[in-house]
Amino acid sequence: MSRTIIRGGTVVSAKEVIAADVVFKAGQIVEVAPAADVGPQDTIIDATGLLVLPGIIDAHTHIQLDTGIYKTADDWLVGSRTAAAGGVTTVIDFATQFPGQTFDEAVDNRLAEAQPSIVDYALHCMVTEFPIGAEPSLQTLIDRGLPSLKIYTTYRPNYYLDDATILRLMAESARIGGLVIVHAENDAMVSEATGHLVQTGRTGWQFHAQARPALAEQEAVNRILFLSEAANAPVYIVHCTTGRSIELVAEAARNGQPAWCETCPQYLLFDERVYAGGHPEHYILQPPIRPEGEPEKVWKLVENGAVSVISTDSCDYTLQQKREFTEFTKTPGGLPGIETLLPLVYTYGVDAGRIELTDLCRMLAENPARLFGLASRKGFLAPGSDADIVLYDPEPEKVVDHADLHYLSGYSPYDGMKVKGEVKLTLSRGEVVYKDGQITADAGRGRFVPGSPFEVPDLISE
Ligand SMILES: [Zn+2]
Repeated sequence: MSRTIIRGGTVVSAKEVIAADVVFKAGQIVEVAPAADVGPQDTIIDATGLLVLPGIIDAHTHIQLDTGIYKTADDWLVGSRTAAAGGVTTVIDFATQFPGQTFDEAVDNRLAEAQPSIVDYALHCMVTEFPIGAEPSLQTLIDRGLPSLKIYTTYRPNYYLDDATILRLMAESARIGGLVIVHAENDAMVSEATGHLVQTGRTGWQFHAQARPALAEQEAVNRILFLSEAANAPVYIVHCTTGRSIELVAEAARNGQPAWCETCPQYLLFDERVYAGGHPEHYILQPPIRPEGEPEKVWKLVENGAVSVISTDSCDYTLQQKREFTEFTKTPGGLPGIETLLPLVYTYGVDAGRIELTDLCRMLAENPARLFGLASRKGFLAPGSDADIVLYDPEPEKVVDHADLHYLSGYSPYDGMKVKGEVKLTLSRGEVVYKDGQITADAGRGRFVPGSPFEVPDLISE
């Protein structure tokens, strides 16, 4: 089989940025080297002037999400198209264990739904019940390649787990090679704050952030770190929104605890003035956007390596869904984000001089691959890895316009923001899935990528 050579680009890893060619064959990378030999049968992709990155891994997405109350407008074809167009070649989404379901049923249902995807996907499992005696059932998830177990400390009655259940799950998860990943907000603080707002008639969208205070997040992060220390279990906190939350995780990690965290672009780029603006409903999500000054604190922790992953928590609700009710308590929470992840982190991180290209590669590709058991195939431009590659042109200056994006939402929270650069080409296992503004892949070509059991990764941090 003939080889393809991506020639003349600037190849980025978490360690270095070098001028090199990337050679792949039969969907796998065979060589990364300066001036690779070219044979007569070889296909050349000219990457002059372009950055050559491993395909981005969005470690936290909610494609085709059905909460039981709301259903996002997208399906897996739509959601995976937004990924391909954004240089994201692997999404890590969720299989939800709805009450009464076995883990096998949860995984089977989600794999069936994900079948139309055009990019590869891995899954976390949302564990919603784990009574005494359920311990043996957890092995199913490890065996089926879902080593990461998502839990919630809030959202009664559907998702909430109490501390005893969390301890039980953490202990068993640690024993068999799982990683517990946590949506951390103190449920009592959220329900009290919400109740107070409702009782005093302050239910408009602009009050959303007040219902979910930063302290609620910080308390839950702190408690989860103690519980995971007690259970001797590795833990990963999703979507940290405040400096204090991330510092708690970093402090635990410095003390030798296997603890990591992620943040998302929306918490780096917006503050709560969005709720006083013209479209507060666009920014209803949990946790909410934080007060002025907080994004700067989160950026500093991204810059110093305390944040392991930047993911999106993408959720493609339409404007119609967002506006159906005027009460923040009824408006579905979530923002579309997969397609803008790479351009935003490049623009406001790398181009703004806050982080290096190596840092971008670390947080958007290598670390999620290592943490979620995908590193043998995904996240690296290395021989033997899948040829998941994105070519990024760092020069063009554009303005985000939802009309250019592939969501069904009808808006982007980033509408009107400047971005530097654009995705030119996305390759998934060596196949072009996006090129110069066009999706070039058919439904169903994406594959489930099982994650290996969790091992404490050797993360690169600055
Ligand atoms: Zn989420």
